[in-house]
Amino acid sequence: MKKYSLFMLLISGMLSGCNTTPHYTTFDDYPVYDGTDLELTYSPQVSNFRVWAPTASEVKILLYDNGSEGGAYQTLDMNRSEKGTWIRKVDQNLKGKFYTFQARIHDKWQEETPGMWVKATGVNGKRAAIIDFADTNPVGWENDVRPPLKSFADISLYEVHMRDFSVSPNSGMKNKGKFLAFTEHGTKNTAGESTGIDHLKELGITHVHLLPVFDFASIDETKLYENKYNWGYDPVNYNVPEGSYSTNPLNPVTRIKEFKEMVQSLHQSGIRVIMDVVYNHTSKGKGSNMDLLAPGYFYRMNKDSTWSNGSGCGNETASERGMFRKFMIESVVYWATEYHVDGFRFDLMGLHDIVTMNAIRAALDKIDPTIFMYGEGWTAAATPLAEDKRAVKKNAKQLNGIAVFSDDMRDAIRGSWMHSSVPGFVSGIDSLAESVKFGVVGGTQHDSIDYSKLIYSKEPYVNNPTQTINYVSCHDDMCLVDKLRDSKPANATDDELVRFNELAQTIVYTSQGVPFLYAGEELYRNKRGIHNTYQSPDSINCINWDSKTTHKDVFNYYQGLIALRKAHSAFRISTQDMIQQHLKFLTEKTPNVVAFMLTDHVNDEVWKDILVIYNGNRKAVSVQIPEGEWTLVCHDGQINTTGISSVTNTYFTVPASSASILFVK
Ligand code: CA
Repeated sequence: MKKYSLFMLLISGMLSGCNTTPHYTTFDDYPVYDGTDLELTYSPQVSNFRVWAPTASEVKILLYDNGSEGGAYQTLDMNRSEKGTWIRKVDQNLKGKFYTFQARIHDKWQEETPGMWVKATGVNGKRAAIIDFADTNPVGWENDVRPPLKSFADISLYEVHMRDFSVSPNSGMKNKGKFLAFTEHGTKNTAGESTGIDHLKELGITHVHLLPVFDFASIDETKLYENKYNWGYDPVNYNVPEGSYSTNPLNPVTRIKEFKEMVQSLHQSGIRVIMDVVYNHTSKGKGSNMDLLAPGYFYRMNKDSTWSNGSGCGNETASERGMFRKFMIESVVYWATEYHVDGFRFDLMGLHDIVTMNAIRAALDKIDPTIFMYGEGWTAAATPLAEDKRAVKKNAKQLNGIAVFSDDMRDAIRGSWMHSSVPGFVSGIDSLAESVKFGVVGGTQHDSIDYSKLIYSKEPYVNNPTQTINYVSCHDDMCLVDKLRDSKPANATDDELVRFNELAQTIVYTSQGVPFLYAGEELYRNKRGIHNTYQSPDSINCINWDSKTTHKDVFNYYQGLIALRKAHSAFRISTQDMIQQHLKFLTEKTPNVVAFMLTDHVNDEVWKDILVIYNGNRKAVSVQIPEGEWTLVCHDGQINTTGISSVTNTYFTVPASSASILFVK
């Protein structure tokens, strides 16, 4: 009776007239069912149903022949069982049938729901489907393995939306906007250059991070001919793939099988798969599939009994509550095991509590400790969850092996996310060098950084660089090309904008931490200056694959950066200690220049010392460098790891708005 007293009094008052229904004073008193058989356990001989609806006075199962149409052919009463659950057994082979649950709560029959643990559905996710999961496995699925990964520092992320990837007329792919696009090899753009999965291999990224691919609400799966676009941050069924990305959303098996084919294909190409998971809110709060079984329980309420909205989407879930914590852990484990997913990006992770996030980490460690977890270390709006319990950036040191996005570094490099006309370090703005240095050390503690000068955080917030995601753009806000154009100095040329762009990504790929690339940036994508393209048409969002030809120089540079990082372990240090010992900043006095060395074959590096210089000025600068027989490998927009030229002078000129990288053997 603390935070939610008024609301709870209301609930208990409603329940008082019902003798057989348990009485709970607060949501925290609701029983937590600890079994793993929730909702449906299927075999050809028997289907066992067990649904959690602790405040219900009656629960029934409605059985259907069809996933969306027609009435129930049978209705079955469920029986009260342990810890708030209701059970019913059906001694028939129900394969191919559909079902919903319906609960009577507070003397009112709720709407039907497929439940929240549902793993297969009919079209638009309204009815649960009874399938045999053996039918969903592609040929060879039993031999599917995760590509090797030694350290999170070796990861190179690529964030992509299902439609962006393939929907363009020049993608060369047949399965436009579908999971199966990721299974198509040999696809080409108009000029005959590789697209799709072949392009990803050529680029050299290690992990594809997919924008929401669980079942979301905003696309009507019965009207796919409309070709509507949405990012999908409006979850309906967390444990079911989105139907519009399958070739047939009417068949519950198809979307599952095709999702697995996508994972299998990426794995065969040496690429791991990450899902963007959005457990922080549901498409609608009141009346959501889970809310219909325990009204209010799964969500945070304000003191005045209104729904809290820390997500900015109308509701926020309550990870600290027993059954939702259990749900999140088991849902993530389910995707990692049934679908072989290799990592999870948590949307608005700051709305989840630290205990839950660490419990998910521990559960994944039991499956495979190389499964990666990261998230947005912030909330979208105010939340009743106490700040010291939130999985926010500030508390990242308490998150065991879970990474957070570095907005500090992002906005220092390319300018503020909030004010599109505000430029950053790469566009020639002074005073951001300390924040860039903070990015270079992956958000860790380093004696050469004045943390009081950082743009957002004023202290290191991670234990190790593997807890930091380095990036300059993602699906949110402007993409890099648009941002740099919108914030460009008045007289900056198009050629200069390319230089700003390449310098920005050079900082990302030569910094410690985990580099993250928004799909299409390597082809100099733009989104016509639109900040929030969550429901913009394909024409704005799609990757224009012909840009690979028209911006070949940009692609080659990005590819070179990724290859440089992959070949040189000095850029992939996994501990703060090693950074402190081997990453030395040069005491460069020129404003808007950051220079550092990676020394003494750090992290088994083949090169003895590496020198990296970022020149954010729009003019060339001369930098004093340590004496030595240097070999230049990155200079003025060119990368060649076998060496561009030799450098022996102690004064070295870095061209305007660019990076130079040198090494000694
Ligand atoms: Ca859907």
